[in-house]
Amino acid sequence: MAKRETNKWRMLAAGLVSAAALLSLSGAAGLSARAPQAGMAPVARPGNDEEFARLVREWTTRPEFLSPLVDHLPKAPGVPSPKDVLGYHVGQPKKLTYYGDMLRYYRALASASPRVRVTTIGKSDEGRECVVVFVGSEESIAGLDRYRGYLGQLADPRPLTDAQAMEVVGKAKPLYHLVGGLHSGETGPPEMLMELAYRLAVEDSPLITRIRDNVIVSITPAAEPDGRDRYVDWYYAYKTGETGDSVSYGGPPYWGKYILHDNNRDFNFSQLTTRAVLDWYLQWHPPIMHELHESVPFLYTFSGQAPQNPTLDPILYGELPWFANFEMAQMIKYGMPGVWTHAFVDMWYPGYMGFMASNHNGMLRMYETYGNGGANTMKRRIAGGEGAMGAGGGQTSREWYRPLPPYTEVEWSLRNNTNYMETGVLSALELTSAFPKVVLENFYRKSRNSIEAGRKEAPFGYVIPAGGRDMTRVAWVVNILRMQGIEVGRATSEVKVQEGAFPAGSFVVKRDQPYGRLAKILLEKQNFPDPNLRTYDDTGWTMGLMTHTEVREIADRAILDAPVQPVTRVALEGTVSGAPGSRMAIAHYGSANMITLRYRLKDLEVRAVERPFTAGGTEFPAGSFIVDVAAGAGALARVTTAVTQLGLTAAFLPAVPDVPSHEVDVPRLAVFSTWGSTQDVGWVRHAFDAFEIGYDLIFKEQVRAGRLRDAYDVIVMPSQGRTGKGLVFDLPPVGTPLAYRKSAQFKSLGMYGESDDVTGGMGLSGVLEIEKFVEAGGVLVTLGAASFFPAEFGLARRVDAGRPSAQFYAPGPIVEAEITQPSHPIFYGYASKLVPVRYAGGPLLSIQGLEADRDRQTLMRFRGTEAAVLSGLMKGAAETRNRPAIAEVQSGRGRVVMFATNPCFRYETLGEFNMLFNAVLHYNDSKR
Ligand SMILES: [Zn+2]
Repeated sequence: MAKRETNKWRMLAAGLVSAAALLSLSGAAGLSARAPQAGMAPVARPGNDEEFARLVREWTTRPEFLSPLVDHLPKAPGVPSPKDVLGYHVGQPKKLTYYGDMLRYYRALASASPRVRVTTIGKSDEGRECVVVFVGSEESIAGLDRYRGYLGQLADPRPLTDAQAMEVVGKAKPLYHLVGGLHSGETGPPEMLMELAYRLAVEDSPLITRIRDNVIVSITPAAEPDGRDRYVDWYYAYKTGETGDSVSYGGPPYWGKYILHDNNRDFNFSQLTTRAVLDWYLQWHPPIMHELHESVPFLYTFSGQAPQNPTLDPILYGELPWFANFEMAQMIKYGMPGVWTHAFVDMWYPGYMGFMASNHNGMLRMYETYGNGGANTMKRRIAGGEGAMGAGGGQTSREWYRPLPPYTEVEWSLRNNTNYMETGVLSALELTSAFPKVVLENFYRKSRNSIEAGRKEAPFGYVIPAGGRDMTRVAWVVNILRMQGIEVGRATSEVKVQEGAFPAGSFVVKRDQPYGRLAKILLEKQNFPDPNLRTYDDTGWTMGLMTHTEVREIADRAILDAPVQPVTRVALEGTVSGAPGSRMAIAHYGSANMITLRYRLKDLEVRAVERPFTAGGTEFPAGSFIVDVAAGAGALARVTTAVTQLGLTAAFLPAVPDVPSHEVDVPRLAVFSTWGSTQDVGWVRHAFDAFEIGYDLIFKEQVRAGRLRDAYDVIVMPSQGRTGKGLVFDLPPVGTPLAYRKSAQFKSLGMYGESDDVTGGMGLSGVLEIEKFVEAGGVLVTLGAASFFPAEFGLARRVDAGRPSAQFYAPGPIVEAEITQPSHPIFYGYASKLVPVRYAGGPLLSIQGLEADRDRQTLMRFRGTEAAVLSGLMKGAAETRNRPAIAEVQSGRGRVVMFATNPCFRYETLGEFNMLFNAVLHYNDSKR
């Protein structure tokens, strides 16, 4: 995992994780507290690979870091071990495996063993195949589809009586899904999983035989295949010499095409790789999904500490410590120090990838093992502040949940890491194989309880009313609910409940369905249970608020009986009305598709009206487009097609309306990215790509080269760097250039940008070029933390950027903001002055000068009252009172538009997209 806003690459590059010299007493405290070892003497087992046993002992840095479960590996005639295919055993120092070689191994294993099967589930952005590997007994693998069917029946037990469901439990086997390589810098799990698959396929010990017979194991070998290869390239290019005493060379600027750790926060499954896993999940219904991460020492097993999401089944909260405690006890019994639980990550935010299991009545499990960010054996020093969540900080004290703590100094190897992870996973599988029916019955019971809860407890459902002017946001919400497997119906007649009457065609989500709980989690207001608790990620995510879509919570049980037609997917069709003529108006009702329309009609002249008007009974708000559809051959057909495909509302105009308007020029647009903090840039890139907005991605190289105004009208700086200084100076130099370039050897480097040295940042000479750009009439748009930059470096001289007090705590709540300049083009499509926005932890802006100037330059401000916290936790709301959420200042002949919000956050904040899109599209139309 890795803490939010912590960029591992930055920390590594800064040398923060390099270890100090090893003390002579290294590990002594840990040794004296160690439990007695049992069964640890090497046992000569016939058929075992003697070389493996010898090398693993050599690569394991202390005997207690090995366990009897993994100190041996059987040889199986005709079935290839990882070494037979790769040329090395898993855990060999300085060896990391490329993704294609992993697939080559799994395919070789599957073709040699009837106990293994590989299936394709999708493709990554760069075209790599996403797969799932199944391992089980011959009988299980031959009957996979039958077993999938049983799990499907337990996942939706509505057609079954209790007795019938228990019959299915009697025939079914639990599917235990393991996910490695979600985070590319966490290099160990993809290696370990190959050895695990082989061991599960060939070993004939009583334990492995029982696991193979009673459990079906499935594996995502590397959930981010593109990032795996890019990281391995970087490792071989720079990191094989790292010792832990020297500076670290971090990781590549990118993992996947757009994002890094946030692939574990992709709540709306917007990325190809995360979506592939969700689609697979909903076909196979594994009751357990287990993410393998690396950060804290030596093995942390998640047990779901507070704050917990109360909507999830209480059974889950019993199951999590049941597994975690079993693993901890087993591993302590094997003499392995540093296995602990309870005090890392909580059960509040449900957007982690493996949470798809908990959200669908299964169980999310998670490990953190200690990784070195590569395959080197390193001296590591584990110390730090109390309760620190970072890599290793404060994790060595003895606590009730950490009875045999990790050492404070350790020499650590990839093989140690492999031993811990594999022993932990085998212990989890041991428990599952001992209680397969309990796991299955719990899964069934949680599914049944979700349906029952929807019949017994309000809210009984949610209604998304039909008849709104912009249905594109409604379609977005409904389609995400459908993607999550949630049943949505379309009312076949008017729905009358205590909350009101909703027209036929309204979307109805009834809670008495297997994923009724998930619907509630996604759509309800998040009431954070205790302001004194802290949490690992966001506190609020209410979809209706995030997307500016009306979603009504229904406490009237009658909603369960509302007649509906099931919805598969909403495909909107826009409309064109009126008698055909030469001018067409397209209404701006708040759809983010308006900018897509403009880009699809890039070569046509499009005007935007600055005041609303009515034509043929249709209201066209400010920001609506007017297009001359007689302008060229085929223009009419193109506009009509685009309007229809994009779900927009258009009408032919009998006459040009008598309202002021301006031409909507398509800007020459650049998105600036540092090399050290590309993730929030990636979310903006993803949104721009998804909405077909053309742009150049530029880095310090292009900025320093100058002449920016000749090339661009607008530069967007997404949130990056915690301060202006961070944005400008970025990665600290490490004494040698770190090039990010594609080569014959390193094919995955140099993608999405190239650099001869990614360190150093744009520096002051870059700042000068940005200043020249703005002085010469360019528009600079800064988002979130990037808004510190214009304030701190004088591009917005009269704007100060401050930070809240130490008492303030607001992890991603949704708060109310007030639009103070409603006629400004940035707010085209916003019908209300009060809007929900996600609080992004950006700067607390203040504008100096006369009150009138301040008012003019503040486009939107935070309300900053308790009542304005709409979902999630904001402790100290008053500190944000009336602070600008968006400010706009002149600078030379240009402008700087500063967002304290982060309007393209993780592809969730659809309701805020238009503020950025409008700022881009109407860049030269701000009449101040
Ligand atoms: Zn991770």
